[in-house]
Amino acid sequence: MTDALASDPAAYRTALRAYLTGEPTLSAWRTKHYTTTEERIADHAALMGELYQAGWNRYGWPTSAGGLGGDERHRAVLYDELAATDLPIPTPHLMLETLGPPVVRFAPDLAAEYLPAYLRGKEWWGQGFSEPEAGSDLAALRCRARREGDNYVLNGQKLWTSHGATATRLVCLVRTGTPESRHRGLSMIMVDAEGTGISRRPIALASGDNELAEEFFDDAVVPADRLIGAEGQGWAVAMYLLQYERAMYAWMSAAEAFRRLRELRDELAATNPGRTLPADAAQRIAECYSQLVTVRARSADTVRQLATGATVGPEASVDKILLAGAEILLYDIGRDLLGPGFVFEDTAAAAQWRSEWWYSRSATILGGSAEVQRTIIADHVLGLPREATK
Ligand SMILES: Cc1cc2nc3c(=O)[nH]c(=O)nc-3n(C[C@H](O)[C@H](O)[C@H](O)COP(=O)(O)OP(=O)(O)OC[C@H]3O[C@@H](n4cnc5c(N)ncnc54)[C@H](O)[C@@H]3O)c2cc1C
Repeated sequence: MTDALASDPAAYRTALRAYLTGEPTLSAWRTKHYTTTEERIADHAALMGELYQAGWNRYGWPTSAGGLGGDERHRAVLYDELAATDLPIPTPHLMLETLGPPVVRFAPDLAAEYLPAYLRGKEWWGQGFSEPEAGSDLAALRCRARREGDNYVLNGQKLWTSHGATATRLVCLVRTGTPESRHRGLSMIMVDAEGTGISRRPIALASGDNELAEEFFDDAVVPADRLIGAEGQGWAVAMYLLQYERAMYAWMSAAEAFRRLRELRDELAATNPGRTLPADAAQRIAECYSQLVTVRARSADTVRQLATGATVGPEASVDKILLAGAEILLYDIGRDLLGPGFVFEDTAAAAQWRSEWWYSRSATILGGSAEVQRTIIADHVLGLPREATK
């Protein structure tokens, strides 16, 4: 492995594929099923440790933050190749893609201190944006951070935090301005999740998995040097973050979806006489495949733009909407084609299909609802006239 890979994503892909297909220790993570979210995250974090040790998940991140250089294309290639070689994209990478870029950009000292441990799988972070009265209308959030000397004192609640129950740190959007200051009075801050004055409760999804959590801050003291960006700059940091949350998430989820579609095809062919696909399965799988190709074509362009340092901004909402449709279709096809086994089979593989089907129901909600994404596209991408209010 040489630094030449940092400036050549194609060479990186070739070398990475050779490693992923040739490294025997990785087979432990292939076709593995988990019974709990906590078990899956911990095991995937161990996979990050392996990838870090060999250097592969360090590409795409700056050397100042534990990386080996390169850009978003390297990260996209990593997710592609993991999925192509039947390995999971480690769960903590989902929030790494959302939270890592703004921390690198707006708080390089924090990135240097904590990102290497994240890449090694020794810690992971949660995104504390949503609150009971602030989801789509994020500027209404109320969790308050009051400056006291060299610290901020946090009071309030966050809700629906992915992996929040096990995260080491929480990147929170908090109100430092007046209650009426809307988006002008927000700041972003990194909080140690185990700190005094913080309590967390896991939230089980319909599948039974503890995928989300809520956190309560009761005079939680956070050093002021944990700010990400300046005080009052939180909205700008959040907008920078959201383009990664929507765009890189779409890329990695599409890579996973391709893998799951391939597995579905193989599973159906294996159980059908003559190892052919059952009637109408080929057409439905092809329909889903073509939707995923659409996501990927769009997403590849977005990733290339991010890699040049361009601001994708509201355009990332297009990627998110396309992905949500393809994901829902994939899991509906899985449910339909796997037949009664999807509902009744008592195997780890069937349980995974069921759990992922449930999770796919949230594809039009998480990271900003589909309705809100369409409004963003109408207002900020297409520049359509505002709807008349009755
Ligand atoms: C699986 C999952 C993971 C999540 N992970 C995180 C996380 O890690 N961190 C985090 O901070 N949050 C997370 N969220 C929360 C998510 O960001 C919010 O659920 C989402 O932004 C919607 O907010 P809400 O739930 O408050 O719904 P509301 O904002 O109350 O919306 C309810 C409904 O009203 C519609 N609506 C609202 N406003 C408008 C409008 N102006 N025009 C048209 N329709 C509108 C919405 O589309 C939706 O259908 C997660 C959610 C899910 C489901």
